[in-house]
Amino acid sequence: MRERLLIPKEKIEKRIEELGREISKDYLEKEPVLICILKGAVYFAIDLTRHLTIPFVIDFMAISKYSGSSSGVVRITKDLDVDIYQKDVIVVEDIVDTGLTLGYLLRNLRARSPMSLKVCTLLDCPSRRIVDIPVDYKGFEIPDVFVVGYGLDYKEKYRNLLDIIVLEE
Ligand code: 5GP
Repeated sequence: MRERLLIPKEKIEKRIEELGREISKDYLEKEPVLICILKGAVYFAIDLTRHLTIPFVIDFMAISKYSGSSSGVVRITKDLDVDIYQKDVIVVEDIVDTGLTLGYLLRNLRARSPMSLKVCTLLDCPSRRIVDIPVDYKGFEIPDVFVVGYGLDYKEKYRNLLDIIVLEE
């Protein structure tokens, strides 16, 4: 497997700082609930919170895809600890690819009647999109490649890389 640098850590750090500032401005006087989707989004979510200047609550959700399923129906293996009824919710994701996973998750979260529901993703890959997902905050748009690093894995490896790299055959 070949590795190619796509986004260096300096760019990632700078962009996350900008996103933190933007979210802090948009949620002034509010106290959003950030929902971090395990495990890929952990690094991004934690770094993002370091740049928030507003009060917030962070919670975690874990999902697992049914093997062989391409419908986007996922199993929630760890649900939220907090109630999001009438709360301002921001889902924090590592990458929105086909959008199938997030599409399912957003439907599930919407049924809990939050006050608002937005999506913040580090990476957005619009060329692979199947389900139309409203992405409110995005770090970077990337082309149709397989990336790892900064939380994203390949068979649980590479998550701790500070840069985002492309893995190629
Ligand atoms: P989607 O349902 O949008 O196709 O996929 C969402 C999930 O698939 C992401 O949260 C991520 O865990 C995984 N995924 C999608 N594209 C990539 C990629 O390029 N690299 C890695 N490491 N995971 C990906």
